Amino acid sequence: MVVERTFLAIKPDGVQRGLVGEILGRLERKGFKLVALKQLIPSRNLAEQHYGVHKERPFFDALVGFITSGPVVAMVWEGEGVISSARKLIGATKPLEAEPGTIRGDLAINIGRNVIHGSDSPETANFEISLWFKPDELNDWSPADQIWRVE
Ligand code: UDP
Ligand code: MG
Repeated sequence: MVVERTFLAIKPDGVQRGLVGEILGRLERKGFKLVALKQLIPSRNLAEQHYGVHKERPFFDALVGFITSGPVVAMVWEGEGVISSARKLIGATKPLEAEPGTIRGDLAINIGRNVIHGSDSPETANFEISLWFKPDELNDWSPADQIWRVE
C-alpha cells in the first residue's frame, strides 16, 4: 500500500452541530496522521472550484450556498490507502444509505447536510489539497509512537 494524502472537510453542519471532535477522533483512532488543519469560511470562488465537477447539477447552487454559509474545518490526512479508507469511514453520500459505523451513517440524515467531504481519487486529492492549502501549510512529521504503528 502506498502512503497517500487526502483532503477532508467538515462541512458547516458538522461544525455547527459540534461534531468536529467526534470526527477528528474517528480518523485519529483509525491511525491516520493529520498533516494540515484550518477553519475557514470558504469564498464563493473556492467553493465553486471545489465542487466544479458538479457545476451542471441541479443541487450545485444550494451546495455552494451551504458550504459558504459558515466555518468549514479543512484537513489533510496521511496514511497507507487513506484516500479510499477515509471514503469508507465517511460512508455513502446519502446518509440514510450509509452503513451504521460510518460518519454519515451514524451522524446524519439528509444528503444536503451530510457533515463531511472526502476526496474520491488520487487526482481529486491532489487537486483539492492544492486548492485549499498552500504547500507550507502541510507538515511533514513522524509520530513519536511510529514504532508501534508499522510492521
Ligand atoms: N449533493 C446534494 N444532492 C445530491 C447529490 C449531492 O446535495 O443529489 C451534495 C452532497 O452534500 C454531496 C455533495 O453534493 O456530499 C457532493 O456530491 P458527491 O456526489 O460528490 O458526493 P460525496 O463525494 O460528497 O459523497
Ligand atoms: Mg464527491
